[in-house]
Amino acid sequence: MLEVRDLEAAYGRGNAVVRKVSLALVPGEMACVMGHNGAGKTTLLRALFGLLRDRSGSVLVGGTEVSGLSPLERVRAGMAYSPSGRAVLPGLTVAENLDTAADVLSLSGQERARRRKLALDLFPILGDRQQQRAGSLSGGEQRMLSIGMVIMQQPRLMLLDEPSLGLSPLMVQNMYDAIAQLRGQSDVTVLVVEQTMELSVIGADSLYIMRMGALGKYDRPAATASMQDLWQLL
Ligand code: ATP
Repeated sequence: MLEVRDLEAAYGRGNAVVRKVSLALVPGEMACVMGHNGAGKTTLLRALFGLLRDRSGSVLVGGTEVSGLSPLERVRAGMAYSPSGRAVLPGLTVAENLDTAADVLSLSGQERARRRKLALDLFPILGDRQQQRAGSLSGGEQRMLSIGMVIMQQPRLMLLDEPSLGLSPLMVQNMYDAIAQLRGQSDVTVLVVEQTMELSVIGADSLYIMRMGALGKYDRPAATASMQDLWQLL
């Protein structure tokens, strides 16, 4: 589903921040990227989504080369990206934020309503607040809305940057439960960046460790990595 070969990306003319990264995810796989602060995790997701100019390498989604495409074109190719933090439009309502995320795709009214229902079923708290301005939601609610916006794009590949940031343990569990539910309904592939989250909570199939821009795969199933293993790997 996602095939990355020797990807190199940098900010401007600076040194490469993503260095010769290769990875391959099968349809429906959920992979987690962990690493120290500044290792390049966010930059990797931004490069995969076309927010940075790739220096070299290739990115294929469902067998289609997306290198060189704009983020908008990548959404149309089946990718969606939820950045870290409060990635919502604060002046718009919850309902308007969900709609705006779908605006980049030419959807029928019926399909748009189906996706909105899916997002609101997964995050019922948003359903009660559809007419509330997104900027007045709590930080955790804004994170859920950001994931809801990704769901509106019904991608084949979701790139999620630290979705658990700022959420209470219960909310983290609810959010990953919602993602698991979504994966149960479709074979969406997920690449998620987390810092120190328990892998059992994330439900990741595979684990990648990023160190100084380079990515290495944990050679056993992610679920077998204990917190102690993780500290040693990082
Ligand atoms: P964290 O866990 O702290 O979020 P990260 O692994 O996501 O870190 P990145 O945010 O990808 O790391 O940063 C990797 C490197 O790229 C860092 O050295 C950072 O200073 C640099 N960097 C990040 N954003 C920019 C930018 N807009 N311009 C120039 N350099 C940047």
